[in-house]
Amino acid sequence: DAVAESQLLEGLNDAQREAVLAGSGPLLIVAGPGSGKTRVVTTRIAHLVTQRGIAPWEILAITFTNKAAKEMRERVDRLIPPPEAEQGRGGGSWIGTFHSMCARILRREIDVLEGYTRDFSIHDTGDRNNLIKTIVKDLGFDPKQFRAPQIGSWISARKNRRGRDDGFELSDGSMEEDVFLAVEKKYRERMRQQNALDFDDLLLKVLEIFDHHHGVRDAYARRFRQVLVDEYQDTNRVQYRLVKHFASFHGNLTVCGDPDQSIYAWRGADIRNILDFEEDYPGAQTVRLEQNYRSTGRILEAANAVISNNTARKDKDLFTDGEQGERVVVIECGDENDEAREIAAQIRSHVARGGNYGDCAVLYRAGFLQRAIEAALRYDAVPYQVVAGLEFYQRKEIKDLVALLRLALNPADDVAFVRVVNTPARGVGDTSLARLAHFAQERGLSMANALGEADALNEIRGRAKKGLAEFAGALEELALARELDAAVALDVVLESLDVDRWLAEMDDGSGTADRAANVEEFRAFASDYDERSPEGKLRGFLEEVALVSDTDAYEGDEDRVKLMTLHACKGLEFRFVAIAGVEDELLPHERAVDEAADPDVAIEEERRLFYVGITRAKERLLVTYTTYRSFFGGGRPVLPSRYLRELPEAEIEGVGPEEREEEALGAFDPAKGAGAGLEVGAIVMHPHFGRGKIEQLTGAGINARATVDFVREGRKQLLLQYASLERL
Ligand code: ATP
Ligand code: MG
Repeated sequence: DAVAESQLLEGLNDAQREAVLAGSGPLLIVAGPGSGKTRVVTTRIAHLVTQRGIAPWEILAITFTNKAAKEMRERVDRLIPPPEAEQGRGGGSWIGTFHSMCARILRREIDVLEGYTRDFSIHDTGDRNNLIKTIVKDLGFDPKQFRAPQIGSWISARKNRRGRDDGFELSDGSMEEDVFLAVEKKYRERMRQQNALDFDDLLLKVLEIFDHHHGVRDAYARRFRQVLVDEYQDTNRVQYRLVKHFASFHGNLTVCGDPDQSIYAWRGADIRNILDFEEDYPGAQTVRLEQNYRSTGRILEAANAVISNNTARKDKDLFTDGEQGERVVVIECGDENDEAREIAAQIRSHVARGGNYGDCAVLYRAGFLQRAIEAALRYDAVPYQVVAGLEFYQRKEIKDLVALLRLALNPADDVAFVRVVNTPARGVGDTSLARLAHFAQERGLSMANALGEADALNEIRGRAKKGLAEFAGALEELALARELDAAVALDVVLESLDVDRWLAEMDDGSGTADRAANVEEFRAFASDYDERSPEGKLRGFLEEVALVSDTDAYEGDEDRVKLMTLHACKGLEFRFVAIAGVEDELLPHERAVDEAADPDVAIEEERRLFYVGITRAKERLLVTYTTYRSFFGGGRPVLPSRYLRELPEAEIEGVGPEEREEEALGAFDPAKGAGAGLEVGAIVMHPHFGRGKIEQLTGAGINARATVDFVREGRKQLLLQYASLERL
């Protein structure tokens, strides 16, 4: 039975109702964090289905992560009880990420592009980098000088900026760029030969089809009578154009977003997509939501104070009817272990006061901060979960199985071939493999196909020859799995593999039980997939596996602390949030600022990231930083983040940077080696100004000066002769 209108709208405020009930045409919802944007989108979908006679499959809803999509499907299910068979699928509506929607479309439509079939493989970043490394070597360049990840990101950036009209140009005519271009060209060829797409291609190929095959485009545009996009501020130009195509027939497009939460510029996201919406879609209705339902007054104050330092923004007022709540706690820690212990202690105290572990999240800017935090949580027996679905799929045993499954579907997938040809060991060394690759390349064949050629193995000797013949046999067996259900296909793969030997070879002394259990778990995923999507088969399963993004393993209902990066926490909320490592080099992230065309723009983007983190907290917020941190190259003194100075004093408690500076000054001994080892970037102590970082050194002798950015006093220029700076 359809849910009554009044029931749907219950509890929504006027602006939210307006957005849910808005008539046809373009609709923009701009609003700050926690104001109910996502809730409005979900309710609107339910409203369209139950009150406006739109069938679920006529709706396309795009979210940023698979997890958000899953949650949205579940919420829509609850609002519109679907027939049994459709449970868990959002009543048949198309709800997913750009990548999953595009993969789904390509499975049906990619035939119109020359050279591709619907059995295409999806390559992840690791696969991409492996292929690039091979290409760099093949072309005779030094893979140490031309690093695959670097070239990979360069290629990706170029792809994602296609279609921008801001005159973006990467070309500076340098020799390095010639190499990159040569690699890119070869990469494109090799991907096509392999019938493979990387993540960027998923979107670009759909765009290519929509741009050039209007019949196909129109079929989708007519089908989707309503298109809704959450987190629109993080769409890039390619996604923007896709959305335009999707909405090109009915023009019913709802987007929502918050320019202050735009944190993906480094991946090509373009904030103009949201700022220009009213111009791009004439007649657009705009709804602003101003009430925050998530956070306490103090957390909201802190968030507003921080973000108000960004110049490139429209001011907006976010208020809450909720309680003022507790102050934001800022704690200075000695080093990362100290910090991790502090966080663990605060989480335990949250639980002691009646909270749950599942209410808590620890957020950080860079992945390497995770290790110390995990260690402290384990030590304190605090249950936690790292929110990174990728982890599971990065394990060697799982990657091997995925590669074998990919070969079953698409034998042309050379990257997968190379990965497993010698798994378990068949005596196929690098030289033999290089010979085979060369043979295949010369004839324009995939390596698997080359194996079928009579004279392919002529130049290959001994064990390798036998090993390759053996693998050719295994490939034939694998081909049987092509049209099977995922779990059955996996069984075929496992049968083709000498599982015991394979596991034993990976044994690094800790036994094979863990890996065997992972294989079991993967088998369970596959059966679960078959049950959920009976028509998906191996193809669909591989697609899902390829698209697990880093927020996916996250299960909201488990009573465990969640650990994740600031980028991964978008859209989520927790009663207790700890943000670790709020330090000078980490937030803003030094490399992000250094590599940006305009450092000021990067500093604002990093501030938005801090803002996103702060606004995840419902009741309690803890911010920590250290004075000394270990990095890959060793440890060194560090300073608190500039953003900490922006937190309003009235809203914070605990030991903020200011008070700590006073203490540090008390301990300062000016007699100790002043002036030694001063260089740009060094952290120094000054008898009056406290700690700071040297930004610039000029002049010599009695004229030598240093520009120092002090934690407490800001930037100052000092004559070294008198300054008695001590390097820390
Ligand atoms: P973000 O920008 O962080 O993605 P958002 O604008 O999407 O935030 P939601 O996640 O939709 O915000 O909502 C934040 C919280 O407020 C949720 O717990 C939601 O259920 C709650 N909420 C939203 N609207 C209302 C309302 N009218 N009454 C009570 N609670 C509400
Ligand atoms: Mg949201």
